Amino acid sequence: MRQPLVAGNWKMNGSRAMAKELIEGLKAGIGEVSKARMAVCPTFVHLPEVASLLEGSSIQFGSQDVCDRVGTGAFTGEVSGEMLKEFGCTYAIVGHSERRSLYGESDEFVAQKFAAARQAGLKPILCVGETLEEREGGITEEVVGRQLDAVIELEGVEALADGVIAYEPVWAIGTGRTATPEQAQETHAFIRGKIAALDAEVAGKVQILYGGSMKPDNAAELMAKPDIDGGLIGGASLKAADFLAIGKAAG
Ligand code: PEP
Repeated sequence: MRQPLVAGNWKMNGSRAMAKELIEGLKAGIGEVSKARMAVCPTFVHLPEVASLLEGSSIQFGSQDVCDRVGTGAFTGEVSGEMLKEFGCTYAIVGHSERRSLYGESDEFVAQKFAAARQAGLKPILCVGETLEEREGGITEEVVGRQLDAVIELEGVEALADGVIAYEPVWAIGTGRTATPEQAQETHAFIRGKIAALDAEVAGKVQILYGGSMKPDNAAELMAKPDIDGGLIGGASLKAADFLAIGKAAG
C-alpha cells in the first residue's frame, strides 16, 4: 500500500559534470527498479541542471533544505519553497541532523520549515533521530517523539500525511555503522504507533524511511521490515550503480 521511496541526499557534493554523469547513469538503469520511487536531492545550485536532465523521467528530485518563511523578502541567502516548486522539486529535506547539529536548527525551527515547504506544495522529508549519547542514555523515543511533536503541534497530525519521515540515527550517518534492521524497525514502529494514536489513517499512509549508512548490501534486510518504507541515502547515492542497487532492493 505504501510505495517505497529511495531518496538520495547529495549533501555538499557534486559539480555540473558529476551531476550529469550521475543522472545519466540513473536514467539508464531506472527501468530495472520495479517497485520503488527514486529521488535525488542535489545542492540548490545543481537543481536547475538536474531538473532539466530529469525531464520526462520517473526519477523525482528535491532540495536539501528550505526557508522557514513563505513568499519573498529580505532574507539573504535563503531559498523559498515556492522557488523550489517552480523548478519542479517534489521534496524538501528538513531537519537533517547536520542542520540541527552544525547550524543550530531547533525542533521548532524545523517545524516552521516543514510548514513552509508544505504550504508551497512540496513534500517535506522530515528527518528525526537520536545521537549515540541519547541512544545509550535510553532516550531515543523521547528525542524522536519530541522532534515529531514539534511538527504535530504546529501543523496538526494530518500534515504528516503530506510529507515523508526519515528516521536517521545520528550515530549511523556517514559512519558506516548501520542500525540493525531490528533496531531500526523498533523506532519506526514507535513513530508509526505514536502517529496512529492520534490518527490511524495518517499512520497507515505516511512513508517512514530509514537513513544511516544504508548500502546495497544491507538495504534489502532493512527495507523488508514492515515499517521501513525506503531509505534516505547519503554516500551511496553518489554512485549510480549503488543507488540503483538500493532501489532494486526495495522489491
Ligand atoms: C544522510 O545524510 O541522510 C545519510 C543517511 O548519509 P549516509 O547514507 O552517508 O549515512
